[in-house]
Amino acid sequence: MKFSVLTLFPDMFESVLGESIIGRALKNGIIETEYINIRDFSEGNYRRVDDYPYGAGGGMVMQPMPIYKAYQSVCKEGEKPYVVYMSPQGNVFNQKKAIELAKKDHVVILCGHYEGVDERIIEEIVDEEISVGDYVLTGGELPAMIVIDATARMCEGTLDSNETMEIESHYNSLLEYPQYTRPVEFMGRRVPDILLSGHHANIEAWRREQSLIRTKLKRPDMIKKADLTDKEREMLKKVRRKRKKCSE
Ligand code: SAM
Repeated sequence: MKFSVLTLFPDMFESVLGESIIGRALKNGIIETEYINIRDFSEGNYRRVDDYPYGAGGGMVMQPMPIYKAYQSVCKEGEKPYVVYMSPQGNVFNQKKAIELAKKDHVVILCGHYEGVDERIIEEIVDEEISVGDYVLTGGELPAMIVIDATARMCEGTLDSNETMEIESHYNSLLEYPQYTRPVEFMGRRVPDILLSGHHANIEAWRREQSLIRTKLKRPDMIKKADLTDKEREMLKKVRRKRKKCSE
């Protein structure tokens, strides 16, 4: 899968996305990235890409034409890639969206700056606006990196077979169970005995239970959407009653 990023700051990306698991996916050709400097498509001696907003008001707005030309430069003949504009006004990004984007062959990500981009470029090329949360950042570069990282992890071959995504937080509307590594004891706190037992079925059952309990406690909004058995729902009710009693 290919990501083409249209940005005023292409140098921000390499060091973040070139490392670790995403760096490995790049080296192995599972994903491909290109960072296009919108300024390269501006006209005039000053390589200007922004201008004052019509109707007055503070700040600057990114002009549509350099963005349009940058976009055209990444489209192969006859191709219509999926275009995302990183925007605080978009749908809030989540795991489901990452899985959805990972199925596409070519995603173009437009990063805004200043007061954002001229509305007409959104109307002309953008398929979807995506936000990384209800706050305003300086530019779309950090949000784009978040989207690329989370999406690339969902591409087949990015994670090793022992790095299973299905049990990770948010994959099935659940948070992941607690994780432990060596040493067995740290500051008087021991790794739960069951994890040292070598009994795989019991360990799986314990992990599922922990996953349900922590989702219920940390993210009650998520547990409502999770696929649980009647027995599991009953278990969670007991946990809630127990906690209620303890807090009384
Ligand atoms: N004036 C815009 C508004 O109020 O909607 C905000 C512009 S913001 C300062 C500049 C750029 O940062 C945006 O064009 C967008 O690309 C990016 N950006 C800021 N916050 C974001 C968020 N929460 N999610 C995704 N992109 C964001």
